[in-house]
Amino acid sequence: MNLILLGPPGAGKGTQAKRLEEKFGLLQISTGDMLRAEVKAGTPIGLEAKAIMERGDLVPDSIITAMLAARVSRPDAAKGFILDGFPRTLPQAEALDAMLAEKGLALDHVIELQVDDAALIERIAGRFTCASCGEGYHDKFKRPAREGVCDKCGGREFVRRADDKAETVAARLAAYHRQTAPLLPYYRAQGKLRAVDGMADMDSVSAALAAILRGGDAVDSEARRV
Ligand code: ADP
Ligand code: ADP
Ligand code: ZN
Repeated sequence: MNLILLGPPGAGKGTQAKRLEEKFGLLQISTGDMLRAEVKAGTPIGLEAKAIMERGDLVPDSIITAMLAARVSRPDAAKGFILDGFPRTLPQAEALDAMLAEKGLALDHVIELQVDDAALIERIAGRFTCASCGEGYHDKFKRPAREGVCDKCGGREFVRRADDKAETVAARLAAYHRQTAPLLPYYRAQGKLRAVDGMADMDSVSAALAAILRGGDAVDSEARRV
């Protein structure tokens, strides 16, 4: 099974992709995480991407598409994958379709997590992660059970993303509405789009996603009207 989790920054894509990875044995592929690793390692891609990401703009399609193609070709992707943060533009979606066709693979579902802009801003402002295992947290919605200690690995160091500051969030939301939202009609026309209410609590969102993966949910009603 191959899926796309689509949605604006802060919608819960990473949180839910990690849960689906555990529950369904799929591989999470996050282009944002891959780019942050390149930045940290100081690679040529990282050097080019750093300033773009800090401005809240999108990294050029050519870089992203090549990076994604290499990742999808690794053996661990054969068990099925969840694309988290890719595609983000129509050229990326078209490149993905071509890439999958060449490998004889298909997308099973494209799931949109729908969240209001006001809630996104609050989610992004409160987001932090464990520096050792990457577990995601939130100041208000998901604090560690023991203050200052990671639930998953016991780590005591946490990090906040450089682009999660208020000045950058508006640019990231604008990029989503301008460049990524056109993917919704693209996938609706393919009959693959499903929508989930991302405003619900994390467990309810997980349950709605699991229902779709188990085949219990119909195609988004708007999709049938096309
Ligand atoms: P994305 O990967 O789409 O940018 P994240 O999964 O990182 O989003 O979630 C953004 C922040 O919101 C994180 O701090 C996360 O803990 C929190 N969060 C995720 N899903 C929910 C939810 N359903 N309700 C409240 N907070 C959430
Ligand atoms: P979020 O979890 O908030 O949606 P990501 O971690 O997916 O953010 O992405 C962080 C940043 O990395 C983006 O703002 C953008 O600069 C860059 N990026 C990630 N994925 C892509 C992509 N598919 N195309 C272009 N830029 C990307
Ligand atoms: Zn941890």
